[in-house]
Amino acid sequence: RSVCAMNDPEPREMLLSIAPSALPIGISGIEKRFGGVSVLRDLSLDVAAGEFLTLLGPSGSGKTTLLMILAGFVRANFGSIKVGGEEIITTPPHRRNIGMVFQNYALFPHMNVFHNIAFPLKQRRVSAADTAERVEKALDLVQLKGLGERRVDQLSGGQRQRVALARAIVFEPRIVLMDEPLSALDKGLREHMQIELRNLHRRLGMTTVYVTHDQREAITMSDRIAVMNAGRIEQIDRPEVLYARPQTRFVAGFIGDSS
Ligand code: ADP
Repeated sequence: RSVCAMNDPEPREMLLSIAPSALPIGISGIEKRFGGVSVLRDLSLDVAAGEFLTLLGPSGSGKTTLLMILAGFVRANFGSIKVGGEEIITTPPHRRNIGMVFQNYALFPHMNVFHNIAFPLKQRRVSAADTAERVEKALDLVQLKGLGERRVDQLSGGQRQRVALARAIVFEPRIVLMDEPLSALDKGLREHMQIELRNLHRRLGMTTVYVTHDQREAITMSDRIAVMNAGRIEQIDRPEVLYARPQTRFVAGFIGDSS
């Protein structure tokens, strides 16, 4: 893919120490109701190990709810989620080994960059020496080297999003979930960060589920796209297939609409 054609200046061995083997995700028969309303309906989806899969759909189609169920913050009424073949549907969030990046970054504004990124390591009781080393690597990966002491409220939007990304990958998760991570950024920066995110994914290879309502972003970044509508997946395919051969009227309308 041409958007990913940036150089890879880092030595491979250094990257490997922060890149554990990726795991596949098997989602099957997920049902979710809020009150009496079904927001996910018998939803099944397989994500391959190391794949960058995007959930694309209009507001209210259930994308965030599915991501929250994957992360363990929302409980499904029915269904199964397997990671590397192991059932995790009842595993608490902090035991799932999943990194998350949110739209609003969810950083601690009173802490500096280092301590924000170190937070998940502290939760996992990683030693101080190990923490320092891993945070340095993560800062390097997201191109924020030397900014560890900076307070988060002194950073630009793009820099904050990089800190959030570093925090999501610093504990070597096998899966990363991202919910509209770039939507607070202006257009130019958003396009730049799309390339950076894609490059980072290529280098680290973690299984990624990405949520967006922006079809262009999905087409630029994804290995495959799952188009969601009213709690169901309408079609899952590679971007070019989705674009050339939409299987439903909804998909044709949504992918074709470039607003
Ligand atoms: P999307 O991410 O595609 O915009 P969501 O997953 O946020 O969609 O929401 C899907 C539907 O579920 C929406 O109709 C939304 O109003 C509803 N919903 C989401 N979270 C809750 C909640 N905690 N309580 C009640 N309804 C909810």
